[in-house]
Amino acid sequence: MNSASWEAALRSAGGAVAAAEHALEHGAGAFAAGRPPGHHALTDTAMGFCLLGNVVLAARSALTRGAGRVLIVDWDVHHGNGTQALVERDPRIRFVSLHQWPWWPGTGAESERGVGNIFNVPRPPGLEPDVYVEDLWAAVISATDDWAPDLVIISAGFDAMAGDPLGGFTLEPEHYAELTTRLRAAVAPAPVIGVLEGGYIPSRLADGAAAHILALA
Ligand SMILES: [Zn+2]
Repeated sequence: MNSASWEAALRSAGGAVAAAEHALEHGAGAFAAGRPPGHHALTDTAMGFCLLGNVVLAARSALTRGAGRVLIVDWDVHHGNGTQALVERDPRIRFVSLHQWPWWPGTGAESERGVGNIFNVPRPPGLEPDVYVEDLWAAVISATDDWAPDLVIISAGFDAMAGDPLGGFTLEPEHYAELTTRLRAAVAPAPVIGVLEGGYIPSRLADGAAAHILALA
């Protein structure tokens, strides 16, 4: 952190909110390439590089603008403990998270269900990428079976890619593209947006984000 961090955090959260508003207004996808990320931030505590809960602010904004249900899908390699803490008592928002387990921050057990709106998928490192894709997908199906969202927000971390120094998952850009394409098809006509979370090899982050954005577009 430095003296510019608060301004950056406001702009990052504002980017996520703007993406959600754009999506609702135009029925189209969007990607918020903001820093700092947000999914570890708690109500009154910064955590894990995160100052504000960007995706939750975007979801709440959407709810005040006419959306009835918002689905948040978090494929960052770390559990979105902040997002879960902020939405776990709000049945208008469902949260699906695939993350490495056991791993920092230590939350995200399958037994953490909130008010029935939390769907955690904890998995060990080093599995074949298709296993991560299919297990996340099964949770998305569970969350959206008889519950159609009006907006989908992806907590789009790219530290689940093979080689990332802060995680042990094995995803490649093609897997982010596939998940994005499947989500769009499954929830249509609801729009899907991405909000940047982690990713600690800049060139890999760029490749993963590009694949995700192309699939969003
Ligand atoms: Zn992460």
